Amino acid sequence: MAATLYPPARYRPVRNTSGPMVQPTRGLIPHVQVGTGSLFGWFDNSASQVSSHLWLSRTGELEQYVPCDQRAWAQAAGNPYWISCECEGYPAEDYTPIQVTRLAELFRWGMQEFGWKAEITDSPNGYGIGTHRMGGASWGGHDCPGDIRANRRGDILSLATSQRTFAADPRDRYAGRPTVREGSTGPDVTELQNALNIVFGHEAPTGDPNRLTPDGTYGPRTTARVASLQRYASPWFGRIPDDGICGSTTWRKLGWILTGLNRTI
Ligand SMILES: [Zn+2]
Repeated sequence: MAATLYPPARYRPVRNTSGPMVQPTRGLIPHVQVGTGSLFGWFDNSASQVSSHLWLSRTGELEQYVPCDQRAWAQAAGNPYWISCECEGYPAEDYTPIQVTRLAELFRWGMQEFGWKAEITDSPNGYGIGTHRMGGASWGGHDCPGDIRANRRGDILSLATSQRTFAADPRDRYAGRPTVREGSTGPDVTELQNALNIVFGHEAPTGDPNRLTPDGTYGPRTTARVASLQRYASPWFGRIPDDGICGSTTWRKLGWILTGLNRTI
C-alpha cells in the first residue's frame, strides 16, 4: 500500500472529495492559487465545489486536505488520475525558492511512493509533472498556472532527480551554501534576495520600493538587508555581527527564520 498522507504536510481533511483515485496515479499538477492564505475553509465549504490534495504556502508550509488515494476536485476530468497541489501566489509571480524546493521534495516522494515518472508532460494522457491548462476544456478550461510557473517544471524535476539530499531539518535548508558578499553574483545570491524579501515582507512582485530585485547581483541594498537580518534578535540566534556578509551563520539564521514563519510546529 502506498502512503495516503504526505508526511511533511499538516493533515486537515475537508469534505470536498469523492471516490478513489485510479491507480497508479499519473503524476503531479501544481496549481496556482491566485491568492494567499490557507484554503482549508474554502475547500471544506460544500458550496465551493473545489479542493486539492495539498496546499503549499510561499514560506514552504504544507497542508493536506484530501488523502492521496481519494479524488480532490481540482481539475475536473483529470481528478481521478493526478495529485493536485495548490501553490500560494499569483500567475504573474514566480514561485518562491522554498516552493520550488518543496515541490521537488514532493515529486521525489511521489516517484518513490507511486512510481511517478521523471518527466514533464503537456498531455492529460502523459506522466510526471503536468499543468492544469494541459487538460483544456475537459479540465475546466483554465490557464493555470501561467507561463512563469509552468516553465519552472524543469527546475523542479531536475532538483527532484538530483543527488542533492534535502536537509533533515527544513530549517537547515541553506546548510553548505557558499559565503556570498557585495560583488558576488549567481543563483545563491538570487535565492538570498528572494528569501530576504519573504522574511522582511517585501515579496510582492511590483509596487514595493523596499523589495530587493532578485537579480543575482549582491549590491549595497542586499548588503544592507543582510545586515538588518544579522541585527534582528531572533529567538534562536539572537543578534550576530552585522557585517552584511552572508556566511554560514547568516545563512543558517535566514533558514531558521524563514521556516519559522507561519509554522505551528
Ligand atoms: Zn489550477
